[in-house]
Amino acid sequence: MTVALRVAPSPTGRLHVGNIRTALINWLYARRHGGTFLLRIDDTDEERSTRAYEEAIKEDLAWLGLDWDRFSRQSDRLARYAEAAQRLTAAGRLYPCYETAEELELKRKTLLARRLPPVYDRAALKLTAEEKRRHEGAGRLPHYRFLLSDRPVEWDDLVRGPVRFEPGHLSDPVLLRADGRPLYMFASVVDDLELGISHVIRGEDHVANTAAQIEILAALGGKPEELAFAHLPLLADASGAGFSKRLGSLSVGDLRASGVEPMALNSLLAKLGTSDAIEPRQALAELVAEFELAHFGRSTPKFDLDELMRLNARLLHAMSFEAVRERLERLGLRGVDRDFWEVVRGNLARLDDAAIWWRVVHGELAPLIEDSGFARQAAALLPPEPWDRATWAAWTEHLKVVTQRSGKALFHPLRLALTARERGPELAGLLPLIGRARALARLNGEAA
Ligand code: GLU
Repeated sequence: MTVALRVAPSPTGRLHVGNIRTALINWLYARRHGGTFLLRIDDTDEERSTRAYEEAIKEDLAWLGLDWDRFSRQSDRLARYAEAAQRLTAAGRLYPCYETAEELELKRKTLLARRLPPVYDRAALKLTAEEKRRHEGAGRLPHYRFLLSDRPVEWDDLVRGPVRFEPGHLSDPVLLRADGRPLYMFASVVDDLELGISHVIRGEDHVANTAAQIEILAALGGKPEELAFAHLPLLADASGAGFSKRLGSLSVGDLRASGVEPMALNSLLAKLGTSDAIEPRQALAELVAEFELAHFGRSTPKFDLDELMRLNARLLHAMSFEAVRERLERLGLRGVDRDFWEVVRGNLARLDDAAIWWRVVHGELAPLIEDSGFARQAAALLPPEPWDRATWAAWTEHLKVVTQRSGKALFHPLRLALTARERGPELAGLLPLIGRARALARLNGEAA
């Protein structure tokens, strides 16, 4: 069997945490099983879809490292949907309906008030040719529904296990709008069938869609047993509340702006909802090797931004100089070298913060002098260059003997004078980077 997966975002906004997760899991499955990955743009909703969002989605996926082997766009395939609709009509599975949105809403409310499931009553099926003519004469154009069968629908869900829908529990889905445009529900099945998709992994908000889509697929001559489905529980926010507006609006753009590394996000989302340990991974290949769809459970995973930021810091602390060099140069750290990176990386919460330490090392700062007598003594005892990582220990050992200071009383004023900050990377590493001339000036209270 050829393994073919797809991700099918609607270009009505940037990718958010939920659909990044879906994209990643489909991508990982494809790469793990030597399959292909299709990016499909679900833009049947003309009013809300834009090319600008389509471009943003492509950029976001590229930023995450999720490359696609194939691309398709639903608005390019309208002729295929029209052809499929004709086949369904010929098979007696597509029927015209004339109810307005208000009439349908009234039916729904009436059923709910009687504590009945709000399933469409198929009134349109009973219309005579004369009644249909009258509707059309009055300017009402039909939308089209798919006639579900009276048999149960079953599938073996790769996450949920066996799923069964009894007949009569679902409304016949609308496949074509009154203006003839197809709805996602329909276009998606035609695409999955014609583009040879083998696995559909998506959120559990699609479970009922799957029941109807399996029937549509079969009516179009597809073999439902050749298409595997997996429905993942939706993410909840850290408080356990369901997929909130906040999570829904947390986009790749926002995450990037808060300094999230793509691999931090990938490392978290590849494991959230599994029993696997969440560890920072530097490359997608590692996540591919570890990926098992069977590890995803049925309980609601919690997405915690703080957890992501902690993972982000751990990822940065282990990043190689080669991996970040160009980005550091783009941040303006001209001539940045491995020594600098290895000294500061353990202190970064986000890569941009490296610029702060670059200024401490190479820029001018106003030193914070707590005790000028002690600072001057320290300046006088600075060893001659060349300096290396051992210089700090030699210098402070000497200072300890001369001044009788130790611990915080010894180190804290030196840190403040040399870096103008309360905390930061180890001074043993920073001191040789700062260099003797600058250290001397700062200890003497001069901006340098
Ligand atoms: N465009 C649909 C969505 O974003 C795709 C669902 C599917 O994977 O079939 O929900």
